[in-house]
Amino acid sequence: MTIVPHLIGAATDVPAGSRTADIVNPATGETVGSVPLADRATVEQAIAAAQAAFPAWRATPPARRARVMFRFRQLLEDNAARICELITREHGKTLDDARGELTRGMENVEYACGVADLLKGEHSKNVGPGIDSWSEFQPLGVVAGITPFNFPAMVPLWMYPIAIACGNTFVLKPSERDPSAALLVARLALEAGLPPGVLNVVHGDKVAVDTLLTDPRVQAVSFVGSTPIAEHVYSTASAHGKRVQALGGAKNHAIVMPDADLDNAVSAIMGAAYGSCGERCMAISVVVAVGDELADRLVAKLSAQLRGLAVGAGTAAGCDMGPLVSRVHYEKVKGYVDQGVAEGAELVVDGRGLVVPGHETGFFLGGCLFDRVTPQMTIYREEIFGPVLCVVRVKTMQEGMDLIDAHEYGNGTCLFTRDGEAARYFTDAIRVGMVGINVPLPVPVAYHSFGGWKRSLFGDLSAYGPDGVRFYTRRKTVTQRWPSGGVREGAQFSFPSMK
Ligand code: NAD
Repeated sequence: MTIVPHLIGAATDVPAGSRTADIVNPATGETVGSVPLADRATVEQAIAAAQAAFPAWRATPPARRARVMFRFRQLLEDNAARICELITREHGKTLDDARGELTRGMENVEYACGVADLLKGEHSKNVGPGIDSWSEFQPLGVVAGITPFNFPAMVPLWMYPIAIACGNTFVLKPSERDPSAALLVARLALEAGLPPGVLNVVHGDKVAVDTLLTDPRVQAVSFVGSTPIAEHVYSTASAHGKRVQALGGAKNHAIVMPDADLDNAVSAIMGAAYGSCGERCMAISVVVAVGDELADRLVAKLSAQLRGLAVGAGTAAGCDMGPLVSRVHYEKVKGYVDQGVAEGAELVVDGRGLVVPGHETGFFLGGCLFDRVTPQMTIYREEIFGPVLCVVRVKTMQEGMDLIDAHEYGNGTCLFTRDGEAARYFTDAIRVGMVGINVPLPVPVAYHSFGGWKRSLFGDLSAYGPDGVRFYTRRKTVTQRWPSGGVREGAQFSFPSMK
């Protein structure tokens, strides 16, 4: 049994308190560890440590802060196998998928290595006679990150490398369901040379989160998780005067046009719908097939591939898909499948009842495929976050686009086509934040930024990349003159402008 401790300052011997949660291996259903659920005082201790570390870290030259990031990146590479084992043990995803997650997370560390360049600011000479003006980007102070279970290593890495490289200090509250990878990664950041207090980790639930949202010392909050909690985080933290970015849930549609390369589209959709058991905020959960003839061929090919999907423990070689994260989540996803059947959708492939030999107590659900789903059905409207793909049939691309635009979420979407003009129209007009053309998971690389539209993101700036730098810094604009013999012209009472 592992006990996953808090990390405050550089110490991990913080008293655990009276409340704890079990950590469960979803492939076996066994409890493998325990995590403390912080009370208000413990979170305040972490905030105080971050507050105390801020002045010296703010004053550390960006190039030196970047050097820590270079070492951090190397330590992540050196410890990749350990990190991925922890991800798979507590989340359930396959080891290959865990490695993909870690690599995408490390790209954010690589981006943070360039922080000296990213913080250069803007300069204008002679904005008036003998007057120069510049904008600089200053760190905010203590900032907090609250992260979901589905990317226990990557999502924290979306946040604190760039926040810390910009000169802030950080309190991370990772998901209590799979906290070990987040903690190990944070320890490696300290080993890379972060001074104690620059990065702190507290585990917990609503009590810990609400402390971070309301404590006046916390200047900004980054959140990634489900939409109801994102909304709570956004409204509470902004009411307490903080800058907030709160990324929420998704229902990502892929439109398949009759002219698409169908085999390519089917392979792409399979990976994007069932990879990581559908527990990705960029997973494709709805396929919009344009025309019945295309829909029939698409459903036939998808169902053939789905029947061959290798489901098993994430540690098993050759496994495509692991278990769902918890018993509760398994029941919830299975409940959606039951409801889809009850509401009249056609369940072409039924993954309920799947048993993985040797893992009978794991939370395995086979891939499910629904055809003839309508926009009124619950399985279409709500985020399922499991291996359940819904096919909706439409007559035109515009009809598919109207569905996407009307949906409450706007995280990612994708169009499969060979028609450049259709693709250009789609990318321009669709009301979604991240768009793929023949790319099923258009997750922006680390030097762009990640963010959905509508109820997939509350706040003004996306996560990481250039928006990350803006989110974790405050612009200050200085206007300066050095009169040689005092202010010679005398007082000026009209608003200053260039004549
Ligand atoms: P979640 O909302 O249940 O939990 C996210 C975080 O909020 C966790 O740290 C959790 O401890 C905390 N939390 C939970 N309940 C809370 C409450 N009542 N008050 C305060 N804090 C609370 O999300 P999850 O199940 O861990 O993750 C899955 C969700 O995250 C999905 O909806 C998925 O779409 C979303 N997600 C979104 C993105 C994105 O970039 N938009 C990325 C990954 C995941």
